[in-house]
Amino acid sequence: MDKTIENILIIGSGPAGLTAAIYAARANLNPLMIEGEEVGGQLMTTTDVENYPGFPDGVMGPDLMTLTRKQAERFGTRFVSSNVSKVDFSSRPFKVWVSDKEYQANAVIISTGASATYLGLESEKTFLGKGVSACATCDGAFFRNMNVAIVGGGDTAMEEALFLTRFAKKVMVIHRRDEFRASKIMVDRVKAHEKIEILWNTQLVEILGDTLVKSIKVKNTQSGEEQGLPMDGVFIAIGHRPNTSIFKGQIEMNDQGYIETKSKSTYTSVDGVFAAGDVQDHVYRQAISAAGTGCMAAIDCERWLTENS
Ligand code: NDP
Repeated sequence: MDKTIENILIIGSGPAGLTAAIYAARANLNPLMIEGEEVGGQLMTTTDVENYPGFPDGVMGPDLMTLTRKQAERFGTRFVSSNVSKVDFSSRPFKVWVSDKEYQANAVIISTGASATYLGLESEKTFLGKGVSACATCDGAFFRNMNVAIVGGGDTAMEEALFLTRFAKKVMVIHRRDEFRASKIMVDRVKAHEKIEILWNTQLVEILGDTLVKSIKVKNTQSGEEQGLPMDGVFIAIGHRPNTSIFKGQIEMNDQGYIETKSKSTYTSVDGVFAAGDVQDHVYRQAISAAGTGCMAAIDCERWLTENS
């Protein structure tokens, strides 16, 4: 075991973690970030980000994260490009493992974000990576001049449906209700797009194919009627769940597994452990709000370290 005790260990490298790292590094706290194997978080699978302040013409998600990481590095953040396998927050210094390597830290900032949810169909698993995807940005280009379906009615589904029109011949949005929950501007764009067709009150019940997806079976939630549709790709955009399984039993979470933070702060149920970004926010879930709470976590952490060391 390395005997060094880190000041601040940051787990997760999305906008929240990287912003915390920028603030902690500029406060001379020499943060160590365990950035994971999939560096950069959810923005790495997003195309145009039009609502991040400072980019009047928009910015590509991966570019934004590359720039933010560079900024954190510039002030001295150190990075470990692996996943955390286990933590022990029962006593200080806190312990964090990456495989069998143990790290110790006086304070920890958790910013592990959230991941895509799937419908839970057996056939969805069978065809994952063979026509089924939860990331249009990553896989949309494989479906040039093909027919694709996207499941969901939130902003992600709208954004991905619009993105897919750049490649696909036709995009079918499948939604279980008769109304989208996405923001009006996105809904208007989707409804107006000539390549997009919307199937309301419809559930995807099965994905069929051989080595690749060939068709889908959908069911009308009102009539119960089922129909088969030829389809080359299926994109699932039905939300996300927090990446908190390694923290189970170590820290307080809500029923959905989001880490509980104390009112107007990033303090968690464990003194010295802070949480920022989507891992503790199921309401706003924006890059800018994640970055904002990352900043708060670094400041909370810095003050806590001053008082507790
Ligand atoms: P949301 O939770 O907003 O939407 C999930 C959608 O999936 C809903 O329409 C929901 O249906 C549907 N759904 C959930 N479970 C199932 C299921 N089992 N079967 C069928 N459909 C299902 O998630 P998003 O990922 O779209 O967005 C998350 C947050 O991120 C939101 O706050 C959103 O505004 C924000 N966001 C903002 C963007 C931007 O501003 N550029 C881009 C992307 C996301 P129902 O409506 O019936 O519940």
